Amino acid sequence: MELQERLNEVRSHIATAERQAGRPDGAVRLVAVSKTFDADQIRPAISAGQRVFGENRVQESQGKWPELKAETPGIELHLIGPLQSNKAADAVALFDVIETIDREKIARAVADEMKRQGKRLQLYVQVNTGLEPQKAGIAPDDTVAFVELCRKELGLSIDGLMCIPPAEENPGPHFALLAKLAGEAGVEKLSMGMSSDYETAIAFGATSVRVGSAIFGAR
Ligand SMILES: *Cc1c(COP(=O)(O)O)cnc(C)c1O
Repeated sequence: MELQERLNEVRSHIATAERQAGRPDGAVRLVAVSKTFDADQIRPAISAGQRVFGENRVQESQGKWPELKAETPGIELHLIGPLQSNKAADAVALFDVIETIDREKIARAVADEMKRQGKRLQLYVQVNTGLEPQKAGIAPDDTVAFVELCRKELGLSIDGLMCIPPAEENPGPHFALLAKLAGEAGVEKLSMGMSSDYETAIAFGATSVRVGSAIFGAR
């Protein structure tokens, strides 16, 4: 199958899942995860009308997105991988959304950089719903207080929460937990669901899904 066919298939699965969940058409944003693919492999998705993309590394993204963004206005680029504070300046310069705010140090670095660069990004807090030691993200129990700290002490507007459920578990309870925390924290957006489980995530209220291999193929 060609990339455009796979993209259309994902779009139609999203539309079906929205309908089945009783949610309005277009309620869910598709973030096409293009990590490991180069500019030439990404262009067909842009040609097919896709404008929202996700990448997990700042440095890799710097090698392709300045060029792709210059070619096509209206691209929205999401950072979905861990951010180190020494990369905060580069991340704020290139990305439109950072989904992986997960500790005070990085929240401060991003807040300082947004001020310095006069740029306002959308920000999500990543939650480690499975409390996995190897995975980034704030603990579920600390999420509401952390969102408050970002808002009150750092003046950040936190737009959403993001999670990556443990690979070997049923993702539903993790999506439900993220939705519950978002309600408690007063946060509207929910970034959850990947190639293997985005339809489930939509049933649990995802407002965006991050889909890579189902669109671009195996990495
Ligand atoms: C790679 C990645 C995805 C996409 O994964 P697929 O299984 O290829 O859809 C989604 N979210 C994050 C955080 C990722 O790193």
